[in-house]
Amino acid sequence: MSKLIVVVGSCMVDFISNVERLPKAGETVLGKEFKRSWGGKGANQCVAAAKLGASTTLIASLGLDIFGDEYFQALKSFNIDTKYIKLRKNISSGIAQIIVDDNGDNKIVIVPGANTLLSPADVDEAEDAVKKAAVLLAQFETSLKTTLRALELHKGHGISIVNGAPALANPDLNVLKNCDIFCVNETEAEVMSGIEPLTLKNTQEALNKFFKLGCNTVIITLGAEGAVFASRDNPKMVHVPVEKVKPVDTTGAGDAFLGALAYFIAYHPSLTLKEQIRRACHVAKESVLKAATQASFPMKEELSKELF
Ligand code: ATP
Repeated sequence: MSKLIVVVGSCMVDFISNVERLPKAGETVLGKEFKRSWGGKGANQCVAAAKLGASTTLIASLGLDIFGDEYFQALKSFNIDTKYIKLRKNISSGIAQIIVDDNGDNKIVIVPGANTLLSPADVDEAEDAVKKAAVLLAQFETSLKTTLRALELHKGHGISIVNGAPALANPDLNVLKNCDIFCVNETEAEVMSGIEPLTLKNTQEALNKFFKLGCNTVIITLGAEGAVFASRDNPKMVHVPVEKVKPVDTTGAGDAFLGALAYFIAYHPSLTLKEQIRRACHVAKESVLKAATQASFPMKEELSKELF
């Protein structure tokens, strides 16, 4: 049986400048340090699965520019199948300009660029891969029409997971209804369910709201508290705790969780969902102990053999 993981989603190039204090309108300040890193929830989740040794295909859209070309090569270096990544003319790659000050406050400008052109037709071109996927994974950073097309093609061929990030107050309900697993973090769950602040005590209420919206199985990640899940036909919430650690950098923890969850569903399909989530939480916990995003995701060799 195929173990392929197909991700339909975004690629973003992050430009991160560290400054003493954020500039006011019209002001120029001198920065202290600059880093360029690879991001975008689609690519991050695909890299997280690939670093665990999964066979992965990414359906994505980059600009035909210097950043798109470099990102494409970086994805190849993780053994990701890049056949369905389009490099598009006359549009920039998706970029995020991030300025962080000494207090950790930030200003961010996101230009989605080529990500906006990822279309249902791109998914149609990848039909063979989509239909072969043991797990199909998508997020809210690219067009929901494109995600919906992938879900339609994949129906009956494996497990589909949609990560509702970034939060949308009113997403297309067809996406929620047509995926097997819908996964959000605490903040996204608050925005979508209207239940705020979300605590372990009222998470069941939020889960019930998601079932009313048409979701099948729902996972909510809760940072150091691990995750909870429930299904429409078994709606009682199950809490999956994780060993709490003092994080170095939590950026991308959710992406590490989703890539790992896809891995454990594809490669260990006989485990219960609870155990697959427990293992994914463990991988995500390891990622928060290192700085950066994709670079913080653990490789299979760095993890305990018992996980595999
Ligand atoms: P981010 O937006 O920072 O990328 P997120 O908000 O989408 O992440 P979280 O719910 O914060 O995702 O974290 C995802 C998973 O990471 C959690 O379910 C948990 O397994 C792990 N995790 C995060 N923080 C901690 C922590 N302090 N200790 C242990 N595990 C953690």
